[in-house]
Amino acid sequence: MKRIIIHWTAGGYFPAAEEKMRYHFLVDKAGKVHKGNFRPEDNEICKSGRYAAHTGGGNTGSVGVAVCAMAGFKNRNHVGHYPVVLEQFEAAMKLCAELCVKYKIDVMSDTVMTHYEFGLKNPKTSSAGKIDIIFIPPYSWISQQEAGGFIRSKIKWYIQKLRGEN
Ligand SMILES: [Zn+2]
Repeated sequence: MKRIIIHWTAGGYFPAAEEKMRYHFLVDKAGKVHKGNFRPEDNEICKSGRYAAHTGGGNTGSVGVAVCAMAGFKNRNHVGHYPVVLEQFEAAMKLCAELCVKYKIDVMSDTVMTHYEFGLKNPKTSSAGKIDIIFIPPYSWISQQEAGGFIRSKIKWYIQKLRGEN
């Protein structure tokens, strides 16, 4: 696996059946990790109907991690009834750290990114204009532009923790 792409489901707090088709891992409100129907390895070579289609134009080699939340989100002032909660977000960051270690993925802006960042870098794909993740409710002071960098810092911190460096 060459990279991890991080999403929100734009759904409720627990994974729906169709969401499990789309992501490899889904983190619910309590921070519990649910496995999707496909394994990350199924995205090494994407065969029709046999991989998790989480990132238009960028599924090959990509692990898809989603936080189950954000249905009804309009903007940072109107977040809907399912804003990402702290425990859930932290669990997702810890999961990404574990995946980086498992698949030997360095935490860089082109290897660990949000779907939003992927869309910015790949404007001709169907990922262009995706808004996950432009806002992190438990860290509401982080701007849209800073969210990806903040997520990478968090994941790096969890990797150090896993390695017993702090
Ligand atoms: Zn997405």
